[in-house]
This record gives sequence, structure tokens and C-alpha cells, in this order.
Amino acid sequence: MRLRRLRKSPEVRSVFSETEVRKGKLIMPMFVDENISKQEEIKNMPDIFRLPLNEITAKAKEYEDIGIKSILLFGVPGHKDSTGSASYDRNGVIQKAVREIKKETNLVVFADLCLCEYTDHGHCGIVKGKSIDNDSTLDTYAKIASSYAEAGVDGVAPSGMMDGQVGRIRKELDSRGYEDTLILAYSAKFASSMYAPFREAVFSTPSFGDRRTYQMPYNNAREAIREMELDIEEGADAIMVKPALFYLDLIREARNRFMLPIAAYSVSAEYSIIMSAARNGIINLDSVVDESLSSIFRAGADIVISYFTEYILKKEGN
Ligand SMILES: [Zn+2]
Repeated sequence: MRLRRLRKSPEVRSVFSETEVRKGKLIMPMFVDENISKQEEIKNMPDIFRLPLNEITAKAKEYEDIGIKSILLFGVPGHKDSTGSASYDRNGVIQKAVREIKKETNLVVFADLCLCEYTDHGHCGIVKGKSIDNDSTLDTYAKIASSYAEAGVDGVAPSGMMDGQVGRIRKELDSRGYEDTLILAYSAKFASSMYAPFREAVFSTPSFGDRRTYQMPYNNAREAIREMELDIEEGADAIMVKPALFYLDLIREARNRFMLPIAAYSVSAEYSIIMSAARNGIINLDSVVDESLSSIFRAGADIVISYFTEYILKKEGN
């Protein structure tokens, strides 16, 4: 047996390729910032911008034109307080952006649902004393979910890692007539150092403590499976592993165990590390982007949230 026969030319390799970066399965994250009037590049994330409300729809249209099918929105509000009240404002930054983008494009629009961008303390939930109060946070998440649904979002993506968040949000959406709003659950979201550039992007670094009382310890795989099982029981339409590249084992484990769609979030530092090495001439950007995304699909992800989505689609157009 000569396995090299399968590799003898680019054409043969392509015919027998088991995995491809599926362009229609990439989701582009977008940052919309109420405090700015023109786009600002995010430090340490070259080519990724925070956009003002008056530019977000034009950018979304541009994405649609190059073949992007779906976006995930993150908001930076003009006002932060201890309860994150701007998060469920009918005229909040995400609600406005969703309304306009859904009117002007056919993109599938997801919105991140959390409090860390909206609270003055930067935590993902309501603070009581020195800890994050799970159940009062759920009440706020429910309000955010229905305000996003009212704005016309296709799916909400709860990322706060509070216990019971998916069930509470599903119940709220159903009771308000939003039975068709999807829940893309950040099920296994790890307390990772790989979010650093993102926190700079949305100004959400916690003012005290850290997120380890709610996000997952990276040492634990079985616990991550329990998180996914619970979200499935609670009604998640798709589950997510985040970050992606250091957690490929969990993507594969999820693929083997569960029948629902598996998403992976290739996070900010995964992008920054690759970009920075490429810009320093250490690696070739094109081939490393393809290899890294192929590995995430090969591990079993159906959908990948990647900051390289725009780059890949643009390259495709050339
Ligand atoms: Zn958060």
C-alpha cells in the first residue's frame, strides 16, 4: 500500500481532501461602539475595528457583498452602571444596530448577550458584595434577550456562564412570542488568557477579581461536557466551545457525543498571535490561517466564529 498515491498532485490532494475551511460556515464578529463617530482600529488586532452606529450597516452590507453569511455583534454602550441597564434598553447600541442591519441585509445576525460590556465593574453579572449573583443576573439576561428579539436578531448568544441562563432565556423568549429566536449558547467558555485583546476592544476588564467563579477552568474537560449537556437540556439550539485552538479536544468530544450544531470561537488572541507572527515574517499568514481554521473544522466544528472571516472571503474574491 502506497498512501503517497493520494498526495501526488495538488488536484489529487484536493479530490481526496477530508476537510475544508467552509466559507459559508464562518461568522464574523463585529464591534459597534456608541461613543465614537468614526471607525477605530483595535490595538493588537490589526484590521479589526470598532465601528460607530452610523457605519455599522454599511460595513455589514460590504460583508454581505463579499459572501459573509453571518455576523456576531458586540456592543460598547455610551453609558455603564452597576447593573448594566444599557444592555436591555430598547434603543441600546445593539438593539439599534440589529434593527438597521436586519432591515438592510439578509445576514444572519447573532448578538452576544452578556453584561461585562455594560457594567461599570466589568463583570458578566450582577455584583452582590464581592461575588456575582447568579439568579438576579438571569433576570437581567432575560430582559436583554427579549429586547434583542424585539429588535429582530436571529439568535442570541449568552456568554456569561451563569447557571441556568439558557433555560431562563428560552422561557422568556417563548413567553413573549419569540419562539423562533435561536440560542447559540457559549456552553464551554473557559477562563482564558486568550481574551486579552478583546477586553481592550470593548473595555470590559473586571475592576476587581476575575471571571474564574463563572468561566470554566481550562484543566477540566468532563466539567465542560456537563456544561454542554445542561445547555442542551435547557434548550440551546447550538452549543459553543471557546476558545478554539487550545480546546480542539473538546470540540471533537462534543462532536462525538452530541447531534446538535457545534460552534467554535477562535478568540482575539488566536487572531493576534497569528497576525503578529505573520507581520514579523515568522510565518506565512495565508497558510497558517488555512491550517488553523482547517484544524477547527477537522476537530468537528460546524460553525467557526473567526476574526479572519473577512480576510478569507476577500482573498476568495480575488
Ligand atoms: Zn461577559
